Amino acid sequence: MSEPQHVLVIGAGIVGVNVGLALQKQGFAVTLADRGEPGQGTSFGNAGAIAATECAPISMPGTLRHVPGWLRDPNGPLSLRLSYLPYLLPWLVRFVAAGRRGRVEKIATELAALLHCAWDDYDPLIRDAKLQDAVFRDGALAVYRSNQGRRAADYSIDLRRRNGVTLTDVSRDQIHEIEPDLAPIFACGVLEEDWGRVLDPFKIVTGLYQLFLDRGGKFQTAEITDFVYRDGRPHAAINRGGDNISFDKVVICCGAWSKHLAARLGNKVPLDTERGYNTTVPYHGVTLNHMVISADDSIVLTPMEMGIRVGGAVELAGLKAAPNYDRAKALFAKGQQVLPGLRDEGGTQWMGFRPSMPDSKPVISSSPRHDNAFFAFGHGHLGLTMAATTGRLLADLVAGNPATLDLTPYRINRF
Ligand SMILES: Cc1cc2nc3c(=O)[nH]c(=O)nc-3n(C[C@H](O)[C@H](O)[C@H](O)COP(=O)(O)OP(=O)(O)OC[C@H]3O[C@@H](n4cnc5c(N)ncnc54)[C@H](O)[C@@H]3O)c2cc1C
Repeated sequence: MSEPQHVLVIGAGIVGVNVGLALQKQGFAVTLADRGEPGQGTSFGNAGAIAATECAPISMPGTLRHVPGWLRDPNGPLSLRLSYLPYLLPWLVRFVAAGRRGRVEKIATELAALLHCAWDDYDPLIRDAKLQDAVFRDGALAVYRSNQGRRAADYSIDLRRRNGVTLTDVSRDQIHEIEPDLAPIFACGVLEEDWGRVLDPFKIVTGLYQLFLDRGGKFQTAEITDFVYRDGRPHAAINRGGDNISFDKVVICCGAWSKHLAARLGNKVPLDTERGYNTTVPYHGVTLNHMVISADDSIVLTPMEMGIRVGGAVELAGLKAAPNYDRAKALFAKGQQVLPGLRDEGGTQWMGFRPSMPDSKPVISSSPRHDNAFFAFGHGHLGLTMAATTGRLLADLVAGNPATLDLTPYRINRF
């Protein structure tokens, strides 16, 4: 019996942990490395949606038309720090180009191909990690203040339906039956049956991480800065302040921070971050049965273990600028209009860095330059949703198994 090959997975967020588990299944010896504790990055405090119905990309036909209005509104769904604009431009140009109708149609199909597998890939892991009580496949309700608002979503809804997503229109009365505590301000809604949610995203990462350890996985605290090469091939990771970590194969799963290490391996990639904020408050007697998406407000409300989480929106300001928690406050104020019983006593605020590619598709790819380097990052708004599927596909790639899905749309050098 030969020794199993050693794979180093850099980044222990929800994507890295799932990649680690899938690699173990393929018989590899896996080390997860992270500069911090597992699951403390963007995977820590997100909205907790398994949004298997969300195959419409972020850049859509008409998005650009709304941008000036959004930017003028200090409480709007988009903000941009002007000092960051020069750094953002290459990403922005590609983001705008991705919103052309023909591209959007193709991207939606490519995202749907991943999203259709989300539940099938998660279910066995959730069961093995004994997390069944922390995950609900109970749908989400998108609500619209006016029929005009609903009509504005026609293209997105039609696009998703054409990609096999079940979306059911519901009336004002039905909204009240499903969510009695919502303000009576919504004219109509759409039920997204295949959507689900987790009670605490951090609990999911750490639960899956424990499964990874139980199956013989190793964890090392290490901040990786670069690679050591032998005969033109990377064979060890340079660990700031520690010993180098050698490997047979390496996978970059550093979320929004993946750009630097991808570049060190020879791939320039237009990855940026869409920062997002939320506030989580205790229930204070309010009932919320499902996730609710208030489309006109661009916010989502999630019933979680520790309370109701209200968040959403996008801030384009890079990885270094300090958080502006006024954004979280503004989102929460909108949340109170949607769910009037919400009170902010005992609440906690959070900001996270969505790892975003301009075309909303993740990178699930081998390296065009090195046959032992691989990438899984750039999951944007859907990292929790797509992590288990990404893990399976990436592990097949590392193992050299026949592909179950054409991975061309997700390759690192697609731009
Ligand atoms: C407000 C908000 C709400 C969201 N809601 C949802 C949702 O409801 N559903 C959904 O599917 N997605 C959601 N997302 C997106 C989702 O959270 C992300 O796509 C996902 O967490 C990304 O996971 P990741 O493992 O790629 O990155 P991360 O969780 O950020 O993990 C990356 C890890 O890499 C480590 N790292 C970075 N650089 C190095 C280095 N050089 N050396 C060693 N380690 C390094 C970091 O410490 C970190 O632990 C949301 C995001 C935000 C911000």
